[in-house]
Amino acid sequence: MRIRSQDTVMVISGNDKGKRGRVLSVDREAGTLVIEGVHRITRHMRRSQRNPQGGGRLQKEAPIRLDKVMLVCPGCARPTRVGRIPNAEGKRVRVCRRCKTELG
Ligand SMILES: [Zn+2]
Repeated sequence: MRIRSQDTVMVISGNDKGKRGRVLSVDREAGTLVIEGVHRITRHMRRSQRNPQGGGRLQKEAPIRLDKVMLVCPGCARPTRVGRIPNAEGKRVRVCRRCKTELG
């Protein structure tokens, strides 16, 4: 998996193209992720037993597909592809393909 939660990503296609945000969660099985402040949807809530305060509109981020985003490198602040190379201890780590910063 190239992208993890807490990463900053940029959307590269679709309605939210160009937006950046922090990854809140990744669903590996579905191949989707939720980004803070990106792809917000409005749910119209009805007052109910589960939701006694209820009613009104709820803004919520919806998942978007992983292949619509690129990781934003904290080193060079640009969207980048992610490589995996062995570091000094021989462990494979994620790196920025542009500036070779380790991404942890
Ligand atoms: Zn970089």
